[in-house]
Amino acid sequence: MTYDIAIVGSGPAAYSASIYASRYKLSNIIIGKIIGGTISEAHKVCNYPGLPDISGMELGMKFEAQAKDLGGEVAYESVIDIKKIDGIFHIYSDGKKEYEAKTVILTTGTERNKLMLADEDKYLGKGLSYCATCDAMFYKDKTVAIVGGKNAAVMSATMLSDIAKKVYLIYRGTELLGEPMWVDQLLARKNVEIILKTLPIGLEGENRLERIKLSQPYNGEQYVNVDGVFIEIGSEPNAALSNILGIDVDEKKYIKVDSTQATNIDGIWAAGDCTTASNGFRQVVTAVGEGGIAANAIYKYLSQKAR
Ligand SMILES: Cc1cc2nc3c(=O)[nH]c(=O)nc-3n(C[C@H](O)[C@H](O)[C@H](O)COP(=O)(O)OP(=O)(O)OC[C@H]3O[C@@H](n4cnc5c(N)ncnc54)[C@H](O)[C@@H]3O)c2cc1C
Repeated sequence: MTYDIAIVGSGPAAYSASIYASRYKLSNIIIGKIIGGTISEAHKVCNYPGLPDISGMELGMKFEAQAKDLGGEVAYESVIDIKKIDGIFHIYSDGKKEYEAKTVILTTGTERNKLMLADEDKYLGKGLSYCATCDAMFYKDKTVAIVGGKNAAVMSATMLSDIAKKVYLIYRGTELLGEPMWVDQLLARKNVEIILKTLPIGLEGENRLERIKLSQPYNGEQYVNVDGVFIEIGSEPNAALSNILGIDVDEKKYIKVDSTQATNIDGIWAAGDCTTASNGFRQVVTAVGEGGIAANAIYKYLSQKAR
């Protein structure tokens, strides 16, 4: 079968695109790695209108259920290549499947940045985590450090201060850059110590992470004993497919789109965190907006072609 739309990625942008596409009676399939995408890692989502207090996983499952109820198909696989042959896109997955579609929406989101320390991989899952919301509960009454100084780090530190005995927030900058409301909340926590102008330079421990080595401009090298370290230093777009397809990206590899979410390649749209849209405000509410806009634009594009 040739779908009207193949949606690559399975986060909020994908489900929204599928929901709108199905309402336009456009056949569509989501091909993505994880139910719900990145938001499934969120402990709580409190800023999505109408659902004031929901876990990210639950929100993702609600998105999926609505998309499927309306007729959207879902395949949880990774897309490894896309080729356009005689005007039809051929989408190849790591499940050795090939899907065909008249149009494509890329909703591939972003990937977490690493600190690039020597033993980062060694300690992953042994005291080192990139997702405070996923792993915080393992650190009840323990001592943890969060690395980073923007929203993700500030929010993670606040959440962890409810669970852990002691929380260090380590940031290389001179002040925290999170939303003022989150920063104020964090500063009010008694078990949080903020260490500014400091770089993590090493991770140490026998069988699991026990210490983080820090470099400070005036005090030189210091150690902080910890049970866990959470790295919350931002993310980068998943750009493998845009590279393959020759899609225009900005200097940080975010996909350039116009006001209809169209890319520079005929038949390919992009939506959500992987794009330059929504003023770089990468949230569920903007991802679902962009997914809907892309589906609407494709409806108009395919209707015009059919005339
Ligand atoms: C811990 C945390 C908490 C957050 N909390 C909030 C919050 O409270 N409120 C809020 O609005 N936002 C929050 N966000 C941000 C929110 O998760 C994102 O803005 C949103 O998920 C973006 O949706 P998306 O569909 O663009 O991409 P994503 O949700 O990132 O989904 C993209 C998916 O595509 C997959 N993918 C990538 N490449 C391929 C490929 N080649 N083949 C198949 N699949 C692929 C990725 O693995 C990923 O699962 C949070 C983010 C994090 C990390």
